[in-house]
Amino acid sequence: MTSPAPLLYESHCHTPLCHHAIGLPTDYAQVAERRGLRGIIFTCHCPLPEGISAHVRMAPERFEDYIALVADAREKFAGRVDVRLGLESDYYPGVEPWLEKLHARVPLHHVLGSVHTQVPDYRARFFRGDWFDYQQIYFDHLAEAAETGLYDTLAHPDLVKNESPGDWQLARIEPYIQRALDRVAATGVAMELNTSGVNKAFPEMNPGRRMLELMHERGIPVVLGADAHRPERVADGYAIALRQLADVGYREISFYLDRRRQTVPIPAALASLP
Ligand SMILES: [Zn+2]
Ligand SMILES: [Zn+2]
Repeated sequence: MTSPAPLLYESHCHTPLCHHAIGLPTDYAQVAERRGLRGIIFTCHCPLPEGISAHVRMAPERFEDYIALVADAREKFAGRVDVRLGLESDYYPGVEPWLEKLHARVPLHHVLGSVHTQVPDYRARFFRGDWFDYQQIYFDHLAEAAETGLYDTLAHPDLVKNESPGDWQLARIEPYIQRALDRVAATGVAMELNTSGVNKAFPEMNPGRRMLELMHERGIPVVLGADAHRPERVADGYAIALRQLADVGYREISFYLDRRRQTVPIPAALASLP
């Protein structure tokens, strides 16, 4: 019996350079091969200026090491798994010039835009004592991130729900989500369905089903990512995620290579997984 040809990519995963992930890129690539993926795009946490949240990201002077680490895995898995270099770049107002320079240093295949509400530096700057207010700021920043033109995909685009799960009331925040999604849709930037959400404080994928419906209504493309911080999580939950996307009306799944969006029909994507 021959297994179907691999079609999918892991579009969001990490390396030990960010200080909170384990395993070498070659270990991740090995899991990608076993899980029937065509490729894997490393998107580790970008360096930031002024020591901002330095404990959870690669240091600026390690950026070249990151490039070399991914290049090594690419070479070792040539002909087996298509290993590519990407980046998960934080967004907050004012970071744009830094990221413009950083993204121009090396050809990247996929750039994720992330608003990380759990990072102490971000929280110190934008949390004003009210979680509903923080949720509004989050979605405003998410839309702003799309509008910068710096990103291909917005990562885990309802991450803020994990900040204070008891304060996450979808009906209350939905009008703000809708306005943010209108802005995102106007840019053409994709959004991620991040399967790691099931392991977080508000245990469902990021985003949840209702937000996926709102994204679908606006024609926003979806990129799948497991956000693996250890090799075993590569492509974790992909089949469940694909079925949920089909259920809300999506017909195709996207990923980026050379920063250009590629698509695979969801039935073919599902059939490609062992
Ligand atoms: Zn991380
Ligand atoms: Zn992230």
